[in-house]
Amino acid sequence: MSVAKIGEHIFLIDVEAAGIRNFVASYIIKGESVVIIETGPTSSIQNLVNGLSELGIDPGDVSYVAVSHIHLDHGGGAGTLIKHLPKAKVLVHKRGVPHLANPEKLWQQSKMMLGTIAEIYGKPEPVPPERMVAAYDGMTLNIGEGIALKAVETLGHASHHLSYYESLSKGIFTGDAVGIYVNELDVIVPTTPPPFRMDIALSSLDKLASLKPLVLYYTHFGKALNGAEKIEKYTRQLKLWAETAKFALDAGEDLGAISQRIVENDNAVKKAEGYIRAHKVLRETVLKESVLGIIEFVKNFGDPA
Ligand SMILES: [Zn+2]
Repeated sequence: MSVAKIGEHIFLIDVEAAGIRNFVASYIIKGESVVIIETGPTSSIQNLVNGLSELGIDPGDVSYVAVSHIHLDHGGGAGTLIKHLPKAKVLVHKRGVPHLANPEKLWQQSKMMLGTIAEIYGKPEPVPPERMVAAYDGMTLNIGEGIALKAVETLGHASHHLSYYESLSKGIFTGDAVGIYVNELDVIVPTTPPPFRMDIALSSLDKLASLKPLVLYYTHFGKALNGAEKIEKYTRQLKLWAETAKFALDAGEDLGAISQRIVENDNAVKKAEGYIRAHKVLRETVLKESVLGIIEFVKNFGDPA
């Protein structure tokens, strides 16, 4: 675990999910009260709690735990975390509420999709319904000291996805809506697992671009400058993936060949290929699941480009 101050009132805790550094970030916004954005998975909650203590945050001051969506690596740890936070409520998209209240189905599906990675993340503990607030598009939390956080519904990656806009830094906490940012290499790689809805994801990206963000706060991973430009870049990248998948499907290629073709066509992924292949989570999620999500979308809906 490590903590860093990344803005006037914003801190990043690297929760080292799955024992991997620079992979899952939790963000702390400190005004008169404290808001935590993203919990990471169950298995790294103790690291997050240690990080709060290193920052000198009183658990009783945390008013909200805002999650972008309920995938295990983003909101899976919510039930475990709030046991440490006597007053906090979990803010989640309305479609996520029943799954956090009773995570059994989420857990079974995660195990099916992620296999052993789900076991490494750990089973989510339930969040009592009275400790959850269903967030809606435009809902704003006032944190005090002029700081506000606005929920922005950004579906596509998932049907229960929110991003959060913070006006003082003109920054967006993106969840998985703008891909995975490989900080070390300054490249973005897509996170588009089935049932990915590219048409909806592209409208979500337009919506985020209209906020003209200076900064993106990626869950995977860290603070990225030139926010608006990164959103544009990701939009182009998704279109390139769909175009490539369409071409390869027409040529009768299989998943392995399409994945390889995408690596060859996409300079960002090409640059990150070694990094992705050495990463025990990304090599499964990006080169298989993300490619599969694009293929299924193109098969069902055609190339949206
Ligand atoms: Zn996700």
